[in-house]
Amino acid sequence: MPKVLLFLLLASAAWPDNLPPEADRHLALEIYKQLIEIPSGFTTGATTPVAEAVAARLRAAGFPDSDIFLGGAIPKKFNLVVRYHGTGSRKPILLLAHTDVVEAKREDWTLDPFVFLEKDGYFYGRGTSDDKAQAAVWIANLIRYKREGFKPGRDIIVALTADEEGGGPYNGADWLIKHQRELVDAEFCLNEGGWGESVDGKRVANDIQVSEKSYVNFRIEVHNKGGHSSMPVPDNAIYHLAGALHRLSEFNFPLKTNEVTRAYFRELAKIEHGPVKADLEAVAASSQEAMQRVAKLSPAWNSMLRTTCVATMLEGGHAQNALPQLAAANINCRVLPEDEIAYVQSTLSKVFADDQVGIQLAGEFEKGPSSPLRPDILKAVSRITDTMWPGVVTVPMMVTGGTDGRYFRSAGIPTYGVQGFFMDRNDVRAHGRDERMGVEAFYQGQTFLYNLVKELSK
Ligand SMILES: [Zn+2]
Repeated sequence: MPKVLLFLLLASAAWPDNLPPEADRHLALEIYKQLIEIPSGFTTGATTPVAEAVAARLRAAGFPDSDIFLGGAIPKKFNLVVRYHGTGSRKPILLLAHTDVVEAKREDWTLDPFVFLEKDGYFYGRGTSDDKAQAAVWIANLIRYKREGFKPGRDIIVALTADEEGGGPYNGADWLIKHQRELVDAEFCLNEGGWGESVDGKRVANDIQVSEKSYVNFRIEVHNKGGHSSMPVPDNAIYHLAGALHRLSEFNFPLKTNEVTRAYFRELAKIEHGPVKADLEAVAASSQEAMQRVAKLSPAWNSMLRTTCVATMLEGGHAQNALPQLAAANINCRVLPEDEIAYVQSTLSKVFADDQVGIQLAGEFEKGPSSPLRPDILKAVSRITDTMWPGVVTVPMMVTGGTDGRYFRSAGIPTYGVQGFFMDRNDVRAHGRDERMGVEAFYQGQTFLYNLVKELSK
């Protein structure tokens, strides 16, 4: 075979048809680099320069000022919302990405986290995976739709928002819903939270996040009159607390499945082998015995199958030579969408089985419902996944952490986390050092999201 032909064949195998046209790759790359190099750390940075840079690009691409909104809770923490008009025959689709990043210190990294670098097949920099790739791709694709004259059946709205990492008073998703609801109102929303999973360089699953567990803290306290430690009595605040915590350590909330986790285990079973495969199938059919075994195999699976509560902080006593007057602990719970908070609290009280142990909700509690498993969205994701990456399964997920999706779900806008950016399941660097995104993964994700949004807004 002539060398040139061989090279072409190899090149097309390594770079199949899943790439956007070169001009669009170039545009996405330019935006991506620009966003990474604006330091928008949650506590030390600002998101306003990101919003302004993107607004300038949109104006240059012909988006009128009237379709671009800049604003936020404080001048440093602006959000950007842009609308691409469709025929209006259906309600809009909202494309969400956050522009703040987890802090990154130069001395903790082997590279400068705020210098965009392409090296050995990867893009490096803080935010390359969480969440500036999706932000850059939403904008590059929107500009491409406009250039191509695509006329969607519904408006396509992109919202790039502040302060997802840690939430707080400047959170852009929360702020937009409360102050600019009409700008972001949509039939449904696409967001971060689901990505492609690779194992040993092989793509196995494209995840779509449809629900989240909610996060809640309880403070438990035991008060006692105390006294001199030379004359101890059995009624001791620390012992009461220790007993309650010991009983908690031996307690587990019931195992159960929901629509999303059943679909998750059913899809996962397709790519597993051996006895685990049969167990995952049985979990998808709600077998208690299989759930027991699977929960023991992995803390992540355990957390998907039940509400969990765990002691995370302790305090107590006021002097080395005094009987304690106070003993307290923080209990952190991750609650399944179908479990009520009152149920969790009353269950904990029963487990503690000690009326001296008081229990109170600590801090705010924001519970987002699950998004329905909409067949149109699932079908679109799996059809495009099948076409781009034959053999890769589309897996609905309930994640045990959190994203801004909960604000939109609570506001009645079903939200789906899907990206099509493939990453090594065992080397996820979001929030960590030397965060990166595969070059090919980035461009293929660009194509995936281009096709998905087009299909869902036809
Ligand atoms: Zn994120």
